[in-house]
Amino acid sequence: MALIVQKYGGTSVGDAERIKRVAERIVAAVRAGDQVCVVVSAMGHSTDELVSLAAQVSEEPNPRELDMLLTSGERISMALLSMVISDLGYEAISLTGSQAGIVTDTTHGKARILEVKGDRVRQALAANKIAIVAGFQGVSTAYDVTTLGRGGSDTTAVALAAALGADRCEIYTDVDGVYTADPRIVPSARKLHAVSYEEMLEMAASGAGVLMLRSVEYARNHGVVLHVRSSFGYEDGTWIKEEDERMERAIISGVAHDISEAKVVIQNVPDTPGIAARVFRPLADEGFNIDMIVQNVSAEGRTDISFTMPTDDLRRAKPVLDEIAASVGAEGVARDPDIAKISLVGAGMKTHPGVAADMFDALSDAGINIEIISTSSIRVSCVIRAFEVERAVKAIHDRFKLTEESIIREQHPATATGQLRAINARET
Ligand code: ADP
Ligand code: ASP
Ligand code: MG
Repeated sequence: MALIVQKYGGTSVGDAERIKRVAERIVAAVRAGDQVCVVVSAMGHSTDELVSLAAQVSEEPNPRELDMLLTSGERISMALLSMVISDLGYEAISLTGSQAGIVTDTTHGKARILEVKGDRVRQALAANKIAIVAGFQGVSTAYDVTTLGRGGSDTTAVALAAALGADRCEIYTDVDGVYTADPRIVPSARKLHAVSYEEMLEMAASGAGVLMLRSVEYARNHGVVLHVRSSFGYEDGTWIKEEDERMERAIISGVAHDISEAKVVIQNVPDTPGIAARVFRPLADEGFNIDMIVQNVSAEGRTDISFTMPTDDLRRAKPVLDEIAASVGAEGVARDPDIAKISLVGAGMKTHPGVAADMFDALSDAGINIEIISTSSIRVSCVIRAFEVERAVKAIHDRFKLTEESIIREQHPATATGQLRAINARET
C-alpha cells in the first residue's frame, strides 16, 4: 500500500462536474489500495475574483484580512470534494491548513512554512479516510490564518508529502507535464519526461508558472519526487527529481518568460564606494525581492543602477526608492512595468559554450532589443519589452529546435562530464 499526496489545481476543480471527476480519480486510487491525502486549490479563478473584490473595497487591503478572505476559496473546494467522495461511498474529511497543522511565519500574503504537524491528517489516514487539505494556507506562530503566495497549493502538497513520508507527490493540473515552453504560447513545445530539481528551480524562478518556485525548493530540500501530470488524462507526465548521472540529459530544458516584473533605474548616482549597499540595504530590509542588478560603467564619476522587482511591489516600494534616491544624491528614479524577462534554462549549458550567443542571435534576428542580461551556470535571462515577449519565446524555441529531442549521452559510464558528446540540433 502506497501513501500518495495528490494536488489538484484550480482548473481541475473549476466546476461541479470537474469536482465529481476528481473525486472519482481519488476513489480509484483508494480502490487500488493506496492511502490518499489530497490538496486542493480554489475553484477556477476564484482567488483572482477574491483579490479583485478586496481591491474594490480597499486601496491597500489589510494583509491579515486579505489572507482571511483568500483562504475561503480553498475551503469551498475542499468541502465540495469531500461531499462528493462521501456520496461515492468513501469516507473523507476536509481540513483547513490550520487544522492540518501547517504552521507558518507571520508574513501575510507570502508566509513560509515552518512546520507541518499533520496530526489530524495522519489520524484520518489511519482511520482509512481520505484527507482533503486546503492548499495555499496555514496558521502563523501568532495564530492567524496566512497564505503562502500565489500558486501556494503546490507548496502545501510538497510539504505534506515530506511530513507524511509519502511515496509519491502528484501535481494534477491543466497541462500534462512540464514543457520546453508554456504550451499556451508555443503550441509545438515538447513535454519533458524528467527535469532535475536544479533546472526546475531555474525554470520556476524564471516564470514557468506550472510549479510554484517554493514548492520546488521544498521538494529539493526534502527529497520529494514530483510527478506533474494532467487531471484530465492518465498518461505519464513529467518527473522532477535529483539529477541522475546515468540519465539522458537535455542540453536545454526550456524557455521561460515572466511579465510580472518591472525595471527600476536609479539615475545618475555618484559612483563612490558603498553606494550599492546604500541602495539595496533598505530594499532588502523592507523584504523586496530584487533581481537582475546592473551597474553601468561610470562616466564622469556618475552612473545608473538598474534592477528588476515584482510590479506588484512598485507601489509599496515608491517611498523607499524615493528616499534612497535622495539619500545617495541620485537624479531620480524611473519605474518601467512594461518589460518582460525571458530565460533559457538547461544543465547542458555548463559544458556547451555558445548557448548565450545563440540566444542573443535569435533575439537580434527577430529585431528584439535586449535591455539587461543576467546569467547563472545553467540559465541566461534577458529583459526585453513586454509586448515582444511571445515573439521572443517562439524565436528562441525555434532557434534551439526545442520541439526536437536534444540529448546528451554519456559515451562511456566512466567518462567525466567534460567528455559528453552532444547530439543536438546544432550539430546535425
Ligand atoms: P494549477 O491551477 O493547476 O496550479 P497553473 O495555472 O498554476 O495550474 O499552472 C499550469 C499552467 O502553467 C499551464 O496551463 C501553462 O499555461 C503554464 N505554464 C507555464 N510554463 C509552462 C511550462 N514550461 N510547461 C507547462 N506549463 C507551463
Ligand atoms: N488558489 C491559490 C492561487 O490561485 C493557490 C493555488 O491555486 O495554488 O494562487
Ligand atoms: Mg498553480
